Amino acid sequence: MNFDELKALDHAHTLQTYGRFDVDIDHGKGATLWSLAGREYVDFTSGIGVCSVGYGNETWAKAIYDQALKLGHISNLFYSQPYARLAETLCRRTGMAAAFFGNSGAEANEGIIKLARKYSFDKYGAGRSNIITLNNSFHGRTLTTLTATGQDVFHQYFFPFMEGFRYADANDLDSVKAQGGKDTCAVLVELVQGEGGVLPLEKEFVRGLAELCAQRDWLLLVDEVQTGVGRTGTLFAFQQYGIEPDGVSFAKGIAGGLPMGGFLVHARCRSVLGPGTHASTFGGNPVCAAAAQAVLDILDETALAEVAGKGNYLRRGIEALNKKSIGATRGLGLMIGIEVKAGYTNKALAAQLIDGGLLALTAGPALRLLPPLTITKKEMDKGLAIMDKTLE
Ligand SMILES: *Cc1c(COP(=O)(O)O)cnc(C)c1O
Repeated sequence: MNFDELKALDHAHTLQTYGRFDVDIDHGKGATLWSLAGREYVDFTSGIGVCSVGYGNETWAKAIYDQALKLGHISNLFYSQPYARLAETLCRRTGMAAAFFGNSGAEANEGIIKLARKYSFDKYGAGRSNIITLNNSFHGRTLTTLTATGQDVFHQYFFPFMEGFRYADANDLDSVKAQGGKDTCAVLVELVQGEGGVLPLEKEFVRGLAELCAQRDWLLLVDEVQTGVGRTGTLFAFQQYGIEPDGVSFAKGIAGGLPMGGFLVHARCRSVLGPGTHASTFGGNPVCAAAAQAVLDILDETALAEVAGKGNYLRRGIEALNKKSIGATRGLGLMIGIEVKAGYTNKALAAQLIDGGLLALTAGPALRLLPPLTITKKEMDKGLAIMDKTLE
């Protein structure tokens, strides 16, 4: 099959919900990808922050193969080792008390939203179910997480949306206080707003938020679907902010490319979701759990310590290019946003980069880079050279 045949097949039979780039990807190794026709691309996207340990990683692939041969799936009504071992590893490396596994980011956020509402119901009864999220946030595509998302463009067509969310401004504690009330049970934030444009929250705001939550007995929920699993240089971003959240969701990078999400709860909340209150048929599937275990083994403390250095190297390299179309960089670790200058659009620049052989993403008005965490200096240099050659 060539690219034109593939495109025709896709257009004929799939819902056209994605604004796809005019490129196909057939296979990859490390941080390099190839199309059907053999065109080479340096990858600064890792899916969308999913392929955390790169493409064709042998340790990861072997863990999947071995587990698939041994036991591909078993209902959560039975105990199985991969689920329990993965939960233990995550708790040990984060200080959180317990894990639940599902299949995606939106679903993980639904889980921590349920956690907050049940915590509050158990303690205070009905009527205390409102959750404050931030303007410009992104929390997913299910009806509830669309409502949680603090961007009006997501609140269209699919009425009625879920009740029970109010929106405050990022880095403005007074705005959060103004949105809070007797009916509030939690605050849900991304520590680096991803889809909104790679905007890290200020540390002082986040510490203030944690104090406010503790005073009012609101749960502090952190959406680490994009920032989690080493992306920002620590296993989870909250570990750099000096806070102890009540619930933390994760997904994207956790299983290195297999579909998995989930959440961690603090000891304060470990008995909130008891038998029968939450479940998932596929959640914590042995193959996905084995893949996640391999990802966490690969992303040991040494590998995580390199993420910040790689991020700084890329950011310095990009700023040194001195291009008319792009400005300052921002972000945390290997989650990088690049300002797009007036007169240029991020979509056109991303298309131009892809045309030149470098895969890049957009977020809000910015360009966004989420390379595999295992990317090498050589691969980063190759990507920077393509940026230099391609951008005005
Ligand atoms: C991607 C993302 C989600 C949604 O994850 P899905 O797996 O697509 O459901 C939620 N929150 C954040 C911060 C994300 O980046």
